[in-house]
Amino acid sequence: MKNFDNDSIILEHLADENEKYLHAVVPPVYLTSLHVFDTAEEYLHFDSEKEDAYIYGRERNPTVYLAEQKIAALERGKKALIFASGMAAASSAVMATCHTGSHVICMNNAYGPLRNFLQSFCTEKLGMSVTFVRGTDISEYEQAIRPETSLIVLESPSTFAFSVTDLRKVAALAKQHGIYTYLDNTYCTPIFQKPLEFGIDIVMHTLSKYMGGHSDIIGGVLVSNDLELAKELEHTIRPLYGGIMGPMEAWLVIRGLRTLSVRVHAHQQTALKVAEFLEQHPKIKCVRYPGLASHPQHDLIASQQTGSTGLMTFDINGNKEDAVKVVNRLQYFKIGCSWGGFESLAIPVGYNASPEELDFMGISEQTIRIHCGLEECSLLIQDLEQALAVLS
Ligand SMILES: *Cc1c(COP(=O)(O)O)cnc(C)c1O
Repeated sequence: MKNFDNDSIILEHLADENEKYLHAVVPPVYLTSLHVFDTAEEYLHFDSEKEDAYIYGRERNPTVYLAEQKIAALERGKKALIFASGMAAASSAVMATCHTGSHVICMNNAYGPLRNFLQSFCTEKLGMSVTFVRGTDISEYEQAIRPETSLIVLESPSTFAFSVTDLRKVAALAKQHGIYTYLDNTYCTPIFQKPLEFGIDIVMHTLSKYMGGHSDIIGGVLVSNDLELAKELEHTIRPLYGGIMGPMEAWLVIRGLRTLSVRVHAHQQTALKVAEFLEQHPKIKCVRYPGLASHPQHDLIASQQTGSTGLMTFDINGNKEDAVKVVNRLQYFKIGCSWGGFESLAIPVGYNASPEELDFMGISEQTIRIHCGLEECSLLIQDLEQALAVLS
């Protein structure tokens, strides 16, 4: 009997069902848009609510479903649903939990395009409203709750300020008031944080980052233990908005998941050494990395995360032009906005922001964000050292 409570067994074996596919060790990709029936009666009596039953690819696909089973098990959730992008998943979660007039509480540091979606589309077209909170103190959520609050949007750790939210406390508060909680768990991956176990209702990941892991796909997923909500997402929201992922990308998700645990542990090992190197460097003002012992929320982090991955921000002693100089001098860190793949990346994230935006996000004009990839750690540290040497 295989132990499907174990993350490595889930990644390497759950739902692979080799006997179903001529004992191929890798299940095939089902590049098909529809499924045909032996008789008209079977077609007419098709039960779309039955698990593992297929009729048309905008509703379900066997390769997508295989990836969903692995991700649901990894998050200790009952149901996962995969979408064509992280934003398709995020906006679908809002559509499934809110209605005209709903109020949403959203962390300042939630993913930018999701904040945009709430502030522009939802506010202007659906008559919804949003309250932003810094989100590190439970009283901020308490004070923001209104009778019409439907959803609390969280990201922990956030991927600029790297602050964390007490997930158990926010989940308990939301339950008391009948409010859904949504958490973007992309940074930790389910390997290092399992928010459903803390009472969070919906966990979201972009599959474009660590879950895919190779910077070759765009995708997103929602995981929940609330089967009513999952049904609404699977049978109403996803097929009507048409946002399911294609089978080829889903096959690449499965391939990425095989090495997820190994990769995030490697990213963590490198990132911790890089963060410790930067922290003691004379040209560095501060480092924001959840794995550092000096993180101001260290105890809370230890109580809800079992690790941290490869992304961090740091402030140099200098201005935003100096930040640009440092980024331009890097050899192994490529310049680009995403993260979670094999490659190291760097960007001057504070450069284009106004003072109000910088304050809102909890960073500075001279903040640099780096992703530590899978290159050898000592080379990345040497690279940062020579790039920081431009700061005289
Ligand atoms: C990239 C990202 C998203 C959006 O995912 P897409 O697949 O690009 O739509 C959401 N949340 C976080 C934290 C991200 O980094």
